[in-house]
Amino acid sequence: MSDKDFIIEETNYTEESDNKDEKERTGDTGTDDRADMCDDKEEVTAQSEDDKDDDEYEKYCIICHRPESVAGKMVDLPNNMTVCSDCMRKSFDAMTDGSIDYSKLMNIPGVQFLNLSDMENVTPKSQKIKKKKEKPKEYHTLSIKDIPAPHKIKAQLDEYVVGQEYAKKTMSVAVYNHYKRVATNMMDDIEIEKSNMLMIGPTGSGKTYLVKTLARLLDVPLAITDATSLTEAGYIGDDIESVVSKLLAAADNDVERAEQGIIFIDEIDKIAKKRNSSQRDVSGESVQQGMLKLLEGSEVEVPVGANSKNAMVPLTTVSTKNILFICGGAFPDLEEIIKERLSRKTAMGFNAELKDKYEHGKDILSKVTVEDLRTFGMIPEFIGRLPIIFTLKGLDKDMLVKILKEPKNAILKQYQKLLALDEVNLEFDDGALGAIAEKAMKKNTGARALRAIIEEFMLDIMYEIPKDDNIGQVTITREYIEGTGGPIIELRGQRMPLLGQNGAAGI
Ligand code: ADP
Repeated sequence: MSDKDFIIEETNYTEESDNKDEKERTGDTGTDDRADMCDDKEEVTAQSEDDKDDDEYEKYCIICHRPESVAGKMVDLPNNMTVCSDCMRKSFDAMTDGSIDYSKLMNIPGVQFLNLSDMENVTPKSQKIKKKKEKPKEYHTLSIKDIPAPHKIKAQLDEYVVGQEYAKKTMSVAVYNHYKRVATNMMDDIEIEKSNMLMIGPTGSGKTYLVKTLARLLDVPLAITDATSLTEAGYIGDDIESVVSKLLAAADNDVERAEQGIIFIDEIDKIAKKRNSSQRDVSGESVQQGMLKLLEGSEVEVPVGANSKNAMVPLTTVSTKNILFICGGAFPDLEEIIKERLSRKTAMGFNAELKDKYEHGKDILSKVTVEDLRTFGMIPEFIGRLPIIFTLKGLDKDMLVKILKEPKNAILKQYQKLLALDEVNLEFDDGALGAIAEKAMKKNTGARALRAIIEEFMLDIMYEIPKDDNIGQVTITREYIEGTGGPIIELRGQRMPLLGQNGAAGI
């Protein structure tokens, strides 16, 4: 989302504080030139300035001289001295394991014992290292007017995500409604329900990519978790609530920002109720049960800056009421379940020819109902909390070709940009794109296979081309991808087809 879509309130530094910083850098306390002031008063002023500045300086270890940001928390000693925990421990270890003969040490040249009383004159200022100034943070306040309309959200998604029209439309409307709900909180007595979503689609069809793109466009924090790692509290694995701490971390520990974020739980089909299992199902049905409260909206205590609760980390409360949950999964056997339901209906004789159609139908998944998901093993309460259910299509060859070249950050564009930096023009002919897509289809991992395939072929090109300054253009051909030929190399001002098993090596 562009910055105009949300009101961004920047924490502006006033001129006054800038001046103060400037003075501190130059060591100007503002009291030096007032000669008429009595000495006592000057000292008090300097002291209070010191106190004020305390936060701005880092402590450093008097033994190894590393600052606190590098060596970790310092141990305070008398006279404003500090020692890092490493040096402290080493000193204790050396003293207690008997490895040091102190009487001998006294005579070794260069070894001195630290006499704390000698350090009394060390001024506190010399112990301090200025901390790096942190960038001012941007805060977002949602206002109804600033939430982009669904068609605008979809138009932005279109720039990155190829196809999946229905999914993009559904998500745009759901997200729009969700953030309208967040912005208004309540409309009269009618409270708008959460728009949590369930996306069903084969692996590599762009589920994660859609959510990532959406969160980036809306500029809201996003946490991505795998449902397979979740277990019921108290068992080995991640607590269900850990998803909220991930979101908090993604929001830089800003609770307010986290509460407007998105949590994407992938592989949700893996927490389906296990069929025919007599054991306690700690990673399946129990996780679904455990997630109910979270999906609906509850106050969750999460550790700040850590993944699990323990005595050492502070806790904070995050409300999940306005967090948008999106669950995604491939649901591998779901098609069979849908087919069975459909053919059960048709077998009764209403529409016998439809049965055959369903058997071989491509888009069976889009006919999914809540009933099918229950048969699959999702509990009704869980599905009930994901009111928006939609499917993504498996990618065909044409879509894969489009994915290669059309999105704003398409893989081809990335390589073209890389080679353009060497002033070389990179082209892929249509045959090459088709061949790459065909290879990707065989791998059955959707668009995920594309990058791996291209990287394999581009390795030689990226290695050889920069060697020769005369090369002006490289055209990747189907033959090169299929291993029967090479790319066409054009020198600046001349065209030169290159044939051979490994064209690039022959450059
Ligand atoms: P999954 O559905 O398994 O979550 P991903 O979203 O991780 O799949 O997709 C893998 C990669 O494939 C993405 O990073 C993205 O680059 C690419 N991709 C998948 N689908 C599309 C699409 N429809 N448009 C553009 N790129 C896509």
